[in-house]
Amino acid sequence: MKTKIGGKELIEEAAELIRKGEVVAFPTETVYGLGADAFNAEAVAKIFKAKGRPADNPLIVHLFSKDQLNKVAKDIPEEAYILIDIFTPGPLTLILNKHPDIPSITTSGLNTVGIRFPNNELARMLLSKSNTPIAAPSANISGRLSPTTGQAVYEDMDGKIPMILDGGKSQVGIESTVLDLTKKPYTILRPGAISASMLVPYLLEVKNFKGEVKVAASPGMKYQHYAPKCICVGAKLQDRAIMHYKKIANDKCNRPVIIGNLNFIKDLPVNIETLSLGDSVEECMSSFFDTLRYAEKKYNYIILQNFGDFPDFFSLNNRIEKATSHIIV
Ligand code: AMP
Ligand code: MG
Repeated sequence: MKTKIGGKELIEEAAELIRKGEVVAFPTETVYGLGADAFNAEAVAKIFKAKGRPADNPLIVHLFSKDQLNKVAKDIPEEAYILIDIFTPGPLTLILNKHPDIPSITTSGLNTVGIRFPNNELARMLLSKSNTPIAAPSANISGRLSPTTGQAVYEDMDGKIPMILDGGKSQVGIESTVLDLTKKPYTILRPGAISASMLVPYLLEVKNFKGEVKVAASPGMKYQHYAPKCICVGAKLQDRAIMHYKKIANDKCNRPVIIGNLNFIKDLPVNIETLSLGDSVEECMSSFFDTLRYAEKKYNYIILQNFGDFPDFFSLNNRIEKATSHIIV
């Protein structure tokens, strides 16, 4: 299959593909999504196939307007409307009870559905013009780094889907916060740019999910995510990162790199290869996946700063822990 890639000029064609039951990749403010008509089971099956996604990992259903809520969910609690008014369109996914019209493949057989209103011009145009809720996971091959540019989607999806809408770099850069509103206490199943402390004023109590995932609240949590192709380990301290780098560099087959925020890499010896994620937490989140995609091509051993001691970096560190398989040197 030939994969077309382009911007706004392709929007009508993209919407037509969605209506016809095809798959289109599109930008969102979090990461790029791989979308299909959420009501069309055959179309949704094509997403699982293109990604190689396990059938028990449900998709998030993307909406254009609040009017669509009652078509995809039922028994919606009052708090959902409050959070939607305050935080959306934006990087927040709400888990609600599923409407029977949503085919079970979309939610991997769960009786709940994740919904989100993305805040990206092309995503909103696509949702509005295709006139249907769009089920979309991240547009990477399953288990790989999430894509935050059209080029990254192209690397993973070329020849597998008919179209990629390219809207440049995703601004937020890590996947949405997933909040379960189907049972109390309301629980964050996946941390993202909208934190527990931002949600607390509207919910009284909200928990960050901790613990092992078996038959999961958020089934996706049991899979390894966000992993670079090469070895990737974490380091909390600069000295430890340098020591490990030197040890690794002794073997001439290794091409190591240290990746961290500006502060972490700024005074490192000049003969050490480094990549900066940026300064603020927002910058670091936004550049994270793209920096790892760049690094895994140029290097074969990544030493990645672990921000476990910095509460502001909680959500980004969740991705870092996964990329490094929880290894700290
Ligand atoms: P992705 O779009 O690839 O970032 O994956 C979507 C995430 O949302 C995965 O971690 C899913 O497990 C989670 N998710 C989607 N729908 C549900 C649901 N109904 N209940 C719990 N988690 C969900
Ligand atoms: Mg994903």
